[in-house]
Amino acid sequence: MADLQIVLLNARSDNFAVLIHDEQSGKTASIDAPEAGPIAAELKKRNWKLTDIFVTHKHFDHIDGIPALKSAFDVKVTGPEKSAAETGLYDATVADGDRFDFAGHEVQVLETPGHTLDHVSYYIAGQNLLFSADTLFALGCGRVFEGTAAMMWDSLKKLRALPDETIVYCGHEYTLANARFAVTADPENIRLSERLQEVETLRAEGKPTVPTRLDLEKQTNPFLRADDPAVAAAMNMSGRPADEVFAEVRSRKDNF
Ligand code: ZN
Ligand code: FE
Repeated sequence: MADLQIVLLNARSDNFAVLIHDEQSGKTASIDAPEAGPIAAELKKRNWKLTDIFVTHKHFDHIDGIPALKSAFDVKVTGPEKSAAETGLYDATVADGDRFDFAGHEVQVLETPGHTLDHVSYYIAGQNLLFSADTLFALGCGRVFEGTAAMMWDSLKKLRALPDETIVYCGHEYTLANARFAVTADPENIRLSERLQEVETLRAEGKPTVPTRLDLEKQTNPFLRADDPAVAAAMNMSGRPADEVFAEVRSRKDNF
């Protein structure tokens, strides 16, 4: 099985869309559709046809491009069962544990609620690829809009359990702001302070900080480290349950 080709695209002000393409079958999927224009332009440039869109959640900045892409391509939209009725945009729906085929690659659906209740992440184990959208960001996590902090912490633990070598594509370029907060939540973490500098350099050069790797996130992302004594100590919450520490980290970031 040949590797999927992957293209990271900027869309809107700080969203990412990711195209995954299988050369042999000619199939191309977009992970979310924040904006039709940049996706259509990239497809044209590469002479690819869009065959699929995998939607992570119902927020406007992840689905806005769908109607225009549907009228331009014969595309199948797959999205979370929980927001199917509300959005009215999906041709197929998925729920936790579902597995489906994309060009011979098995795609696994992981429900990761918290940011929204419908949020799913897509995992392609055979390619070590995770699309975590607005659940897990590089050095951050999504705001908890619809779920609870405990629910978000459970979702992050589910993603954290994937293999270290997993390549993570998230939904937004928020990494610099996340890094500036992260060093306050985990101040003794040397690898994190190095990473802040790396991220500053990348952004100063106008380069994306995504994708990231799960092992690096486990070492440096305070939202994946709420059960690490160092993060609990920085929150003045030593010995407290991890979901409570997580809630405190999340609320400090909201007010940072
Ligand atoms: Zn969102
Ligand atoms: Fe978003």
